[in-house]
Amino acid sequence: MEISTLFKLRKKAGQLLEPHLLQTGKVLEVRAWSPSTLIEVDLHLPLVNMEQWSQVPYIKFRVDHLTFRDYTPSGWDAETHTCTIYIDAIHNGPGANWARQLKKDDTISYLKKVGFTPHSPAPTSAVIALGDESSIGHMLALQQMVLPHTRFSGGVVIGNDNHRDQFNEYFWSPIEPIARKDIYGHNSLMEWVLKQHYSLENTMFYLVGNSTMVSQLRKLLKQQGYPSGQIKAQGFWD
Ligand SMILES: Cc1cc2nc3c(=O)[nH]c(=O)nc-3n(C[C@H](O)[C@H](O)[C@H](O)COP(=O)(O)OP(=O)(O)OC[C@H]3O[C@@H](n4cnc5c(N)ncnc54)[C@H](O)[C@@H]3O)c2cc1C
Repeated sequence: MEISTLFKLRKKAGQLLEPHLLQTGKVLEVRAWSPSTLIEVDLHLPLVNMEQWSQVPYIKFRVDHLTFRDYTPSGWDAETHTCTIYIDAIHNGPGANWARQLKKDDTISYLKKVGFTPHSPAPTSAVIALGDESSIGHMLALQQMVLPHTRFSGGVVIGNDNHRDQFNEYFWSPIEPIARKDIYGHNSLMEWVLKQHYSLENTMFYLVGNSTMVSQLRKLLKQQGYPSGQIKAQGFWD
């Protein structure tokens, strides 16, 4: 079959299927950090029901024709049906390109069904989140679920010096921004973990972000003696 015919068929299938699977929301505000490779988007999602989280959620947004990407609401205001997502847009990809062109009052589409990652806080004295720029929303969502708050801490590897300053300025969070000394960030995070002297018992690690960082960090933590059962890994992108 000719490529143009195949493309037309896919487009037609999309036009028929998407209205049944999708619902719409509105962009309330877009705030680009400086530099603008991190983008913060406030959304009004009137039909979403996420009142009771027991696991960190994610929403599949339509970023292009028949193209979807997952982004994580950092919190959920059940009264106003609003949330904020944080998009790492340092690269070129349909998701990053979509984020760069979003503006106030845009209509956005997303899959009706909200997804849930397996990350929910364990009943242990130390819940430690370790991530990268793409996992800021996820880590903030996890932070809110941990009670008492003193059980929660963590580190987020952020390459840009200004972004690390902005992270400290914008958030009340025990998550510490860490300079990125290696491409994927696992060595930088591991160096930081070793300085924290976490106990081998009662510590649960939540790894989230790029898949290389997540898998390598898991390996490094296991080499330090932390059992697999105390490491919860969630890869975001390859
Ligand atoms: C459950 C879940 C929740 C997620 N939540 C978030 C979130 O809140 N915020 C967020 O930013 N992302 C999040 N992601 C990742 C997101 O869904 C996309 O995978 C990612 O943004 C890349 O999509 P893209 O279309 O921009 O690039 P793609 O087309 O997927 O990739 C294009 C190229 O860019 C590279 N690349 C992809 N992402 C990055 C990056 N962040 N930095 C550098 N290079 C990259 C890829 O390796 C590839 O070479 C989440 C993923 C999952 C599975």
